[in-house]
Amino acid sequence: MFSPEEPSKDYLKNARLFGKQLAKNLKENHCEEPPVQKKARIMHRIERSLASEFLTRIIISQLFRVNRKICDSCRKCEKVCPTENITMIENKGLYPAFGRNCLLCLSCELKCHTGAIQSPASWKIFKGLIRHNVLEASTDPELTNRRVQIIKGRIKPFD
Ligand code: SF4
Ligand code: SF4
Repeated sequence: MFSPEEPSKDYLKNARLFGKQLAKNLKENHCEEPPVQKKARIMHRIERSLASEFLTRIIISQLFRVNRKICDSCRKCEKVCPTENITMIENKGLYPAFGRNCLLCLSCELKCHTGAIQSPASWKIFKGLIRHNVLEASTDPELTNRRVQIIKGRIKPFD
């Protein structure tokens, strides 16, 4: 889903600065956990549990896969990762390797121009959660929105 008027360029610029600062703080362990919403809806609670920092570091960060047949070693994933969690490793070719400092932002997967990266968020099991989030956002009266899909790093109209 995509909102044509938002985010504005200024909003994006500020969000990037905020994200970089947040990633830096996380990396240096200067972050306090935000207070947990006690009355979060069930789907949000499931999502929060599945994407918890602990599970992400220990399990999910190690489940990213790279299709070596289509990766062209462009290093874009390495550059867009806000936590420098991706390192290009020489192993019968130059391919990305994932550390445990992942925020699950999915920038690497979304920006890969060959579609070589598959994160656990692409698994069928997570489709229900993602569909729920899209549906909830699409009914938010404060947002104008348009459905789009991201294929190989490019935004396209949703078929
Ligand atoms: S962005 Fe995609 S094609 Fe480029 S190095 Fe990373 S995985 Fe390979
Ligand atoms: S999802 Fe990808 S880009 Fe985002 S923090 Fe994890 S490894 Fe880095």
